[in-house]
Amino acid sequence: MNIQNQIQLKPFNTLSLDVTASHYIKVQSDEALVEALNYAKQHSLNVLILSGGSNMLLPEHIHALVIHMDIQGIEYLAEDEHSKTIRVGAGQIWHDFVLWTTSQYLYGLQNLALIPGLVGASPVQNIGAYGVEVGEFIESVQVYDRQLETFSTIFAKDCDFSYRHSIFKDDPNRFVITHVIFKLLKHADLMLNYGDLKQAVGDEQTAENLQKQVIEIRQSKLPDPKEYPNVGSFFKNPIITEQLYDHLALTFSKLPHYPQATGGVKIAAGWLIDQSGWKGKQLGMVGMFHKQALVLVNYDKATLADVQATYHAVQHDVYQKFNILLEPEPVLFNESGLIRSHLE
Ligand SMILES: Cc1cc2nc3c(=O)[nH]c(=O)nc-3n(C[C@H](O)[C@H](O)[C@H](O)COP(=O)(O)OP(=O)(O)OC[C@H]3O[C@@H](n4cnc5c(N)ncnc54)[C@H](O)[C@@H]3O)c2cc1C
Repeated sequence: MNIQNQIQLKPFNTLSLDVTASHYIKVQSDEALVEALNYAKQHSLNVLILSGGSNMLLPEHIHALVIHMDIQGIEYLAEDEHSKTIRVGAGQIWHDFVLWTTSQYLYGLQNLALIPGLVGASPVQNIGAYGVEVGEFIESVQVYDRQLETFSTIFAKDCDFSYRHSIFKDDPNRFVITHVIFKLLKHADLMLNYGDLKQAVGDEQTAENLQKQVIEIRQSKLPDPKEYPNVGSFFKNPIITEQLYDHLALTFSKLPHYPQATGGVKIAAGWLIDQSGWKGKQLGMVGMFHKQALVLVNYDKATLADVQATYHAVQHDVYQKFNILLEPEPVLFNESGLIRSHLE
């Protein structure tokens, strides 16, 4: 087992924060994962599971075992008239997997092209974009259950998938996802009801063109983390009560809003941030991107404290203006490698 000490995680988190991990290992198999978890237990270390590092906020020093997931492999499990079932290793790169599905004439994931990160993290916050959430195409998730110390399979109906949420978020120290089992369609049923996508796709309504347009729209709007280190949408779109929406609409008639089937009204967080004067604004080394106010960017050598100072200021200004408290989307860790609440 190759445990390394004092490893720099800057290349492994897309916000490019300078982070030193006391213990680090890359795991490429189920067996290696169990060995690493046993090592952590024997040495009384907490465990931090790292995939692509595109949805996490890390402190400067972490005293824990960082397990970097690198389990590869794609295999067909089953097929029927309408679908094919595929098992994918947690360490596969998400975008490459989406491109591969399209090349294999398998449909469903095209709207989720170009989302950074690895396959194993995709169920954690039930990644979503352009009207599709990954949970719709997951049959089950294979995990190592650290509580019961055994491998098991969790079917999608038990994953509690909803907007940017799953059981893996509720119980972050329990499950390590090793494989995801997808059920993908053999006949394209394109989801085009979102924003400017239908117009971009035009008359060429194929999955290949849909994927191409999604990639082009994302490239035109979202900063590339290699150029502008970021973690994508920094805040979740808040869901507010109908009463609050009615009250706000009296003053802000252009407030973008999406009534939810389950009750409440979803509001575009980017619009709230823009209207609060934060689009393109910086506080020290950290600011909200000039083309997309929802994306927080590390413009220099920011630390977690700098990131927190900026997002607290954004939260404060949005709250003052709209009486809505924005909730950050990325997962926040403490120096012991454990997940912290953003409200602490
Ligand atoms: C430019 C940009 C655009 C983005 N656009 C979108 C978007 O459109 N939609 C969207 O939903 N997200 C988006 N994101 C956020 C992010 O890409 C996704 O949440 C992605 O799934 C995170 O994957 P990751 O491999 O980087 O996970 P990481 O950041 O490494 O991990 C995220 C969390 O999941 C846990 N985790 C990771 N792997 C496992 C595992 N195998 N088992 C158990 N727990 C695990 C980690 O401990 C951590 O708590 C964007 C990010 C960026 C930088």
